Amino acid sequence: MKNQQKSISLLIPILVGIGVGILLGGLFPIVGSSLEFIGELFINGLLMLVIPLVMTSMIISISSLGDIRQIGGIGGKTIFFYTITTGIAVLIGLIMVNIIQPGVANTDAARIAQRGGQILTDVPYSIDQDIITLQGSTFQRAYDERYNVILLDQNEIHGAIKSGKQPSDNSLRISEWTNLEKDTVTPNQSGSGLKVDLAVAATVKDKDERSIFDVLKEVVVGLLPRNLFQAMVENQVLPLIIFSLLFGAILTTLGERGEGVIIMFSAINEVIMKMIHLILLAAPVGIGALIASRLGLAGGFTGFATEFSSLSKYAASVIIGLFIHGALVLPIILQVFGKRNPWHYARKTASALTTAFSTSSSSATLPLTMECAIQGNHISPRTASFVLPLGATINMDGTALYEAVGAVFIAQVYGIELGVGQMVVIFLTATLAAIGAAGIPEAGLVTMVIVLRAVNIPIEGISLILVIDWFLDRCRTTINVWGDSIVAGVIDTLERPKSHRVITKEEEEVGVVFD
Ligand code: ASP
Repeated sequence: MKNQQKSISLLIPILVGIGVGILLGGLFPIVGSSLEFIGELFINGLLMLVIPLVMTSMIISISSLGDIRQIGGIGGKTIFFYTITTGIAVLIGLIMVNIIQPGVANTDAARIAQRGGQILTDVPYSIDQDIITLQGSTFQRAYDERYNVILLDQNEIHGAIKSGKQPSDNSLRISEWTNLEKDTVTPNQSGSGLKVDLAVAATVKDKDERSIFDVLKEVVVGLLPRNLFQAMVENQVLPLIIFSLLFGAILTTLGERGEGVIIMFSAINEVIMKMIHLILLAAPVGIGALIASRLGLAGGFTGFATEFSSLSKYAASVIIGLFIHGALVLPIILQVFGKRNPWHYARKTASALTTAFSTSSSSATLPLTMECAIQGNHISPRTASFVLPLGATINMDGTALYEAVGAVFIAQVYGIELGVGQMVVIFLTATLAAIGAAGIPEAGLVTMVIVLRAVNIPIEGISLILVIDWFLDRCRTTINVWGDSIVAGVIDTLERPKSHRVITKEEEEVGVVFD
């Protein structure tokens, strides 16, 4: 009861923290970015608990099941709901991107379509001494770091510039570019065509050869860690889940000797949960600092508005899709199958959701997701310990939705027509790519390569969406964590008859309405 009050009373301070963070980062970007270290402290505090939390809670959860065969039941239901919710999310993403059509627009990007997917902009230019100026158009700020520029005049190539720095809005300074074939560029020259090929973004450069089978293979092989400690060091939750499952199951067969060890792990688990309470107290400041510093880094409100405006339709497709999934689909699932009041459930999950938004990491948020589920929403620790760590790694509704929107958006920009068959491939690969994505910032951007490759969309297109990804990452991570929490609520209800748990007074107060 005491803990429950704690989660309620923290909601207001967290909201105040977010408000202050937005104002600080938006109005005083330099001050905002200087707060980065406070946010980092908060993330470190959470991350240090992830591994001990996952291992101890999984071990005691499995040993409390009594009969190891029960895992099959919970596991099957969990995977079923995770798959269904992810599938619905991708579908919503595909519907949104096909209705809004963010990539089919009257912009520079649209011109790529007319020029065989290679030309990013084709506008009059002039060269005066060292500066190439584009007339009537601006480069999109979405480029990563390297691309090629070819100057054309009536299809005659005048000059080529390779791998340079990101240009300022309207102009390129020739001297800043490397490998410049300078002699072919004449000063005081003007022309009618400027061709820019996007290069593969640095983030995905080494990943471009990975196919869906490679990723699946990685997930399967990665289930068993070669080295337990390496898995811990690298924060790989999935192999630790498997290890802890086996460990806990075998522990129950040791009789009295095993019981001592189980009691020890329960005590450790209790300590970790208390440490989470402590860190939670710092959440308003930590979350506020994370938001202030990222907004500051984007250049405050003005910088953010510029980033956002160049890709506003694309961002809107993702955000509206996430909203429909998070505010409509998931609550309905919770109400129907979990028989819980979604509004109360959301309020009690608020600190996890805001942490997800500010950290962009499901894994870092896991301690709070578990705290909110167990203390705030009265999910049995047994269910929460099994469902939530698994969800933080394999269930990513927001990421799956985003991957589908991103892939179709890039195809639209490149003028690639996608048929129903290809949409089905995107549906399947986006689901798998989300399963393969780790619960860390921007993991989904990297696994999008799989989706693009599956339907032959140039992976260079990822450069187009880079600039806004930090923001969309926060939004999709929030939905990822919300999706995990919802399924935990559903599984707890479905498993309840087996665990013979009766509804408590507190549960009644927060809207749990079991038959
Ligand atoms: N940042 C996301 C998460 O941790 C993964 C992604 O990049 O989509 O859930």
